[in-house]
Formats: sequence, C-alpha cells, structure tokens
Amino acid sequence: MKDNKFYYVAILTALLALGFLATTFISYFVARDSLSRQISEEALPLTSDNIYSEIQRDLLTPVLISSLMARDTFVRDWVIDGERETNRIQEYLREIQHRYDTVTAFFVSEKTRRYYHLDGVLKTVDRADPADSWYFRMRELKAPYEINVDIDTADSTRMSIFINYRVLDNQGGLIGVTGVGLSVDSVARLIESYQRRYGRLIYFVDREGHVTLHGSGFSGSDSIHQRPGLAQRAVNILTNPSASVSYERDNDTTVFVNSRLVPEFDWYLLVEQESGPDTTRLHTTLIINIVVSLSITALVLLAAYITISGYQRRLEEMATTDKLTGAANRQVFDIVFDHITRSFKRQPRPVCLILLDIDHFKQVNDTYGHLGGDIVIQRIVSVMRQHVRDGDTVCRWGGEEFLILLDDCPIERAMTSAESIRLSITTQSVLYGRDKINVTVSMGVAQLRSGETADELIGRADAALYQAKGAGRNQVQRAEDD
Ligand code: GH3
Ligand code: MG
Ligand code: MG
Repeated sequence: MKDNKFYYVAILTALLALGFLATTFISYFVARDSLSRQISEEALPLTSDNIYSEIQRDLLTPVLISSLMARDTFVRDWVIDGERETNRIQEYLREIQHRYDTVTAFFVSEKTRRYYHLDGVLKTVDRADPADSWYFRMRELKAPYEINVDIDTADSTRMSIFINYRVLDNQGGLIGVTGVGLSVDSVARLIESYQRRYGRLIYFVDREGHVTLHGSGFSGSDSIHQRPGLAQRAVNILTNPSASVSYERDNDTTVFVNSRLVPEFDWYLLVEQESGPDTTRLHTTLIINIVVSLSITALVLLAAYITISGYQRRLEEMATTDKLTGAANRQVFDIVFDHITRSFKRQPRPVCLILLDIDHFKQVNDTYGHLGGDIVIQRIVSVMRQHVRDGDTVCRWGGEEFLILLDDCPIERAMTSAESIRLSITTQSVLYGRDKINVTVSMGVAQLRSGETADELIGRADAALYQAKGAGRNQVQRAEDD
C-alpha cells in the first residue's frame, strides 16, 4: 500500500511535470518562432522597403539628372557640331553642378576622348590608363547607365559615387558619357541617418558580395563571403532578388538579415537586425513559466499526497475496525493471533482468550429496538476496554459476541479481568433516552496451548461460554484442561 502510494505520486509527478513542461516549451518555441517570423517576414522587409523608397528618392535624383544630361539636345548638338567653344559645355556643367548641388558633373567625348569639367578639359581618357577603365567599360555597356564608386578625376583625394550615363546620337551611336558624382561621405551620411531612424545595420554589397557602402558601426570583413555566420548565407543572398536569412553570432545572438537587389545600382541592400529585448523577454517568460509549473506541480503533489494519505488511513481503519464499536475485526484478530503464536514458539508465555456473549440479547432488541441494542453493544466494548491493558486486543467476533486476546497474561489474571468486566456490566445499567437497560454477559476463558490453532482455542473458550450460559448466565467459566 505504501509502495503503491509512492508509485502513484511518482506517476502523477511525472505526468504533471511532463504536461507543464511540454506546454511551457511548446509555447516558448511557438512564441520564438512567431517572433523570428515577425522580424524576418514583416519588420525587416518593411524597413527594407522604406529604405529602398528613400534611396530612390535620395539617390535616384542624381540618376535622373544624369539621364537628363544624356538626353539634353544641347549636349548632343554641341558634340555633333564638333565640340567647339569649350566654355559652353563648361558653363553647362557648372550650371548642373550648382543647381543640383552635386560634387562634380562631367562629359567625356567618344570622338575626342576629352574629359570636360566645369573647369575645362581635365584630361584625355586613355585605354592604357587604369583610372580610365570605367570609360571603356561604359562603351560596351548594354544598360543605359551604371553607378560606380571611384576616385574623382577632378580631385584624386576624394572617392565619389558616379552615375555614368551613355550619350547617344539620333541613330543610337555612342557619342560620349556624361553624368554627375556624389561624395561617398554624403551617401554614407544618408545610410547613417537610415540606420539611426530604423535602429538597424544597413549596407550595400555588389553582385560579388563586396561591401560598397556602409555607415558607422560596420566592422569586420568587407566581403560577405568572409563575414562569420553570414558567409554560409552569401550564395542565397547573391542569387536571389530578395532573401530573408538569419545566422547565429557569438553562439547566443540571432541576426536576421533581409536583402534586396536595387536594380538601379545593381547592388544589394542589406538590412541586419539582432534578436533584441523581445527574445530576452521570451527567455525570462520561459524561466518564470518553468518555475511556476514546477511550483504548481509541487503544490498539487503535496495536496495529492495529503489526500491519498488521508484516504489510505481511512481505508486502513475501515479494513481493520468495526464501525459500530471501533473494536478490531476478525482480520485483525487473525493477524495478531498469528503474530503471537509465532513469538510464542521462541518465547513461551501465558496467552489467554476471553469469549463474551451478551445474555438474552434478543430481548434487549425486542424491548428497546435495534438502536437500543447497538448502544448496549457500544457500552459493553467500552467496559471491556477499561478492564484490559492497552496492548490487549478487543475484537468484535460476531453480532453480540466479543473476543479479548491477552498476551503474556496468566489464566488467573484473565479470569480476574473477565470477572471485573462481568461485574461492571451487571452493576451499571445502560442509559438509553429515559430508559435504563440492564444486561448481563457470559464469558468463557481459555489459555493457549502450545501448537494450538485459533479455531481450537476459540472452540475451547466457546465450550466454556456454553457452560456459563448453561449454568444460568451472568458468569465466567474457565475452559477445561488449562
Ligand atoms: P443468549 O443469552 O443465549 O445468547 O441469548 P440471545 O438472545 O443473546 O441469543 P443470541 O446470542 O443467539 O442472539 C443474538 C441476537 O443479537 C440476534 C440478533 O438480532 C442480535 N444482534 C446481532 N448483531 C446485532 C447488532 O449489531 N445490533 C443489534 N441491535 N442486535 C444484534
Ligand atoms: Mg450470541
Ligand atoms: Mg447472546
């Protein structure tokens, strides 16, 4: 029974803990997943969209200016007319530069290879000069323009972003390349302002994965192929027009990356975000949930243990005691007798049995009803208890028959106890409402013989009781052969 109790409590613990932990972890993973999804599928792409439209606004203006320059009839006519009066193109370029506040504005003629600038002809582009390679690339370009980060021809100490636009004649033949340049710093400042506004790391990479533009807070390798964690995602980013990826940094930080191709630049815009305070909050919630779950499990177990113990005690009582009198039942008698006979073999000692039967009990029931009879039975058990030792077993053997098993008790003492019980019952009437019920009892007393069974002992006591009944009741008879 005890083992069973621990077994049930252990099963209950396992089930409760398992249930709680399962729900806790499932909800944690679901929440984490939806947070990741929220960042990678909603928040980051939205930022990317916003930045993209801002870039279109901020960076595409120079593209527009360059395209206007390339289509300007003045430029075309001036070239076709033989590039005379250099001051006219200088004036034009100065006008563009001042009006649109660009760092530089230029025109390179295909025919003369002259590089025109607002200060005049700066140089003649030369295929042999690596600094002029951009021009020869432009000649072959299929697209109308390209964006190129390069050293400024007009100021070799400065990096600029050039929007190079092909200028075509009416037949579609190339007559030169024109465009404007922006300072890299100003574009970096632009990225900087996006970064501040959106609280995310923003940078551009070209088709090969080289970082072309970034703001502050950007450190590490200039190629995404070499950036730890991101390197494994580089192919995915560089082969898709847009992608949402994530990678682990320093083992415990998840970095979400959204990329999209900006076709005007032919660059990828990358927006990075670390899993921030929301993830920390998730972890805290997880810990709290686990603690709460385990505490509830512990409380439920305590409650279950107390309840089970209570029921167990009651069951044990119900199984061992008589409901009406609280005296032991036959099962208990058998256990105690078994126990006594075993130790009796090792250590012989006098063991006695008193068998008690109420005299003319039917009459009591007939006169006072069953309830009155019950009260008499309760009263008789309480008297028997008063006259025996605590260790002696008082047992309700049948309806109005009782046994007392007296261990380590000589027959004379057993007879004396029986006699005092008889006397006490005879002299004290039982109060039942207004009635006083007077009863007497008869008893047979026997001492256990070596090797004797319970049935044999009780049989001898019963025979003595029968004698007592026969001899006029209200008396104690000692079994023969003791
Ligand atoms: P005797 O002196 O020969 O023992 O006469 P008796 O009337 O007591 O005869 P017997 O012992 O055969 O009677 C037992 C009666 O006890 C019969 C039954 O109705 C009654 N009885 C048995 N158990 C209970 C009980 O729990 N409560 C009550 N009120 N009566 C019971
Ligand atoms: Mg009887
Ligand atoms: Mg009787």
